Amino acid sequence: MSERGKMAGGQQVREPGAADHGEPAQVNAGAPAGANRSLAAAINARETELEQTLSNLAALEAQVRSLELALGDDSGHGTEGTAEIQTLQKLCPICETELENFGHFKSESARPTRRAECPECGSLERHRLVWLYFKNETNLFSSEKKLKMLHIAPESAFKLRLYRSPDHEYVSADLNPGIGDLRMDITDIDMEDETFDVVYCSHVFEHVPEDRQAMRELARVLRKDGWAILLVPILREVTDEDPSVTDPAERTRRFGQFDHVRAYGKDYAQRLEEAGFTVRVDPYGDRLTPEDRERYGLLAGEDIYFCRKAQ
Ligand SMILES: [Zn+2]
Repeated sequence: MSERGKMAGGQQVREPGAADHGEPAQVNAGAPAGANRSLAAAINARETELEQTLSNLAALEAQVRSLELALGDDSGHGTEGTAEIQTLQKLCPICETELENFGHFKSESARPTRRAECPECGSLERHRLVWLYFKNETNLFSSEKKLKMLHIAPESAFKLRLYRSPDHEYVSADLNPGIGDLRMDITDIDMEDETFDVVYCSHVFEHVPEDRQAMRELARVLRKDGWAILLVPILREVTDEDPSVTDPAERTRRFGQFDHVRAYGKDYAQRLEEAGFTVRVDPYGDRLTPEDRERYGLLAGEDIYFCRKAQ
């Protein structure tokens, strides 16, 4: 969690200061030492001012993004006013198909139909966000060694791109037969400790009564230098769970879907840490520009839970 702030603004302010050091001494090589000192102090003051301005600018940009989000939610209404953005060609980053628009998608939850689905590979917003994260923020496609990856409850869009990849030793697994390469109960994984370089498990734990045991098992099979992306829907501040709630309608009302056994809150990262991970919550959906979100068909406000095995 502590790295979140570091990632938000670190890059913009680092360069100007670093590039400027050294030049004042050359320009004023013949000036008295006192003058150099006051000039250096003035330059330091200007650098501080510049950093403050950049930081203010970043805050303003974040405000603009949240206003854009409020104006153009994913309900399908309210998009008429964004004609300029709508004319951009869409691109599915997973199958790399260019599209006029994503297809209509109606989820099982109560959310309205929205333009979400890639007609080519079937990907939805979250899948495309994770794929961009894989490409831009991890070594999944740039590692020199062949990575061994475990993909739980495999989304077909990812599976199709990874299972024949010569750069990966890819294993998909699911509790139900016929969906993954292996049938697997993630609360009792029949694998050696430290088997995988990469574990990806998205929107699974909310279906698993013994989710803490599943998290411990995934931490166990992850290699020491490996990483995992473990996602769940975050619906509230504090996780709400009650094993006695089994009625599908009541589960939908309380946990968001008929087969969910809990609604996770922002304490989800803590639960992962208690199971043996260190967790970095990366607000990746918000770090991308509104133009990128529009082009790739993404939702703002989606965090990536990037985990490593606690040492
Ligand atoms: Zn696609």
